[in-house]
Amino acid sequence: MKQNPPRVLIAGLWHETNGFAPMATDIAAFRAYQWAEGAELLTRYRGTNTEIGGMVAGAEAAGLTLVPALFAGAIPSGLVTAEALEALIRRIEDTARAAGPLDGVLLALHGAMIADGVDEADAEVVRRVRHVVGHEVPIVASFDLHANLSDALVAAADQLIGYDTFPHIDMGARGEEAAVVLAAMIAGGRRPAKAFRKLPMITVPQMQATAEPPMAAIMARVFEAETRPGISTISVAQGFAYADVDHLGVAVVGYGEDAAAIEAAVDAIAEALWDAREGFRPALQPVEQAVERAVMAERGPVVLVEPADNVGGGAPGDGTAILAELIARGAGGAIVLWDPVAVTAAVEIGVGSTFNGKAGGRTLPALHGAPVRVSGAVVFVERAVSYTRDGPYMTGQTVPMGDVAVVETAAGLKVVLTGERVMPFDATHLRRVGIEPAEQPILVAKSGSAWKAAFGAMAAEVLVVDTGGVCSSTVERLPYTRDAVRAMWPLAG
Ligand SMILES: [Zn+2]
Repeated sequence: MKQNPPRVLIAGLWHETNGFAPMATDIAAFRAYQWAEGAELLTRYRGTNTEIGGMVAGAEAAGLTLVPALFAGAIPSGLVTAEALEALIRRIEDTARAAGPLDGVLLALHGAMIADGVDEADAEVVRRVRHVVGHEVPIVASFDLHANLSDALVAAADQLIGYDTFPHIDMGARGEEAAVVLAAMIAGGRRPAKAFRKLPMITVPQMQATAEPPMAAIMARVFEAETRPGISTISVAQGFAYADVDHLGVAVVGYGEDAAAIEAAVDAIAEALWDAREGFRPALQPVEQAVERAVMAERGPVVLVEPADNVGGGAPGDGTAILAELIARGAGGAIVLWDPVAVTAAVEIGVGSTFNGKAGGRTLPALHGAPVRVSGAVVFVERAVSYTRDGPYMTGQTVPMGDVAVVETAAGLKVVLTGERVMPFDATHLRRVGIEPAEQPILVAKSGSAWKAAFGAMAAEVLVVDTGGVCSSTVERLPYTRDAVRAMWPLAG
């Protein structure tokens, strides 16, 4: 029996798991990044450009009463521990059980979460919530464009709605859409038909920007199809290449009242993606060549993009290949490195002192380079730095940087040492520590594509650098073992 106003559980777990990264993701990693329970979930995210923020806006506009459980997110890193996954799901289950009768569920998921022993962690979340609320209660979930969608996840939820943008600037809009779709499902008492196509195809973040080829043409097809009668939403999940799981890869999922129309539209989009596959091969430059070109450039900032050490993809962000070359060439500019050891040393000696020590390369020296000696003046130190995102990406979120020290070499290279891994999704992470990015000759972005939201508009030139790492754009370098994955394009054929 439907209640008036309808009561809807809202919850979310967000993690993009890099199966090749050694840093295990425990409960503390979630608590350190995004964690809001009960009423705080509503107050923390209301008005922010996040899935939860959008869901709250959409639900409140549609007259739904929200029952907030937990939203927890960790910075992309290695496998979620089995204990963490269990504890997170239990908190959501407990709220769902204590809530009494519910009319619907809104979940903000990533879709590429893997826990130790649970390859399809997102599907597990939905199944467990489903088990508590029962089959009569509709569940609508949002997911990241980097989701590795699976049959199990599609089967468990009534509708899945993914971001249409990368960099992801429509998280709020998709969350709001999820709430509107759920409200209609509750009011109408009907579930939509669904169509799902999985492609044996791996693409890399560097080539997934939705405003650029080859994705722009694909998204135009998606938006056109969504205007057809009987079609509610269609989403393309590009997948997240950096995991060794059978359900890796690109997928298309669509929903609506007209089953035949959805099947046809999803088929056509899947075929267009497959036909466009050669356009997803990335162009990369060797590090020496890229730094040489950046040093010689007449105008800055030249952005050196390092997808292999993409912090937002679970890489440590302490790779030293570009740093070593910048120092060797006497280049100026700014580079951010995760190094809790070096930052502690620099903070202790303080501003005005001379730092002379190793930096970076702490996590995976075999792949990401050994520590590199950095000598220069300490020009900034502060403990427990955080800032609020003001760019178009995850607007309003608070980002912890940990302790921060900036060491400036004689050549004018500002090495930003951070206690936490920092994703370069907006320029504030530099401005907050006294660096104006637009004035730098060279900026290093340890990122696949999301850096564009921070530096895209100010870049005089962009060079994508080929270094080793757990987020390499050259997927042939990655240690995949599963037969299902090794049979995918471009690894096979
Ligand atoms: Zn993503």
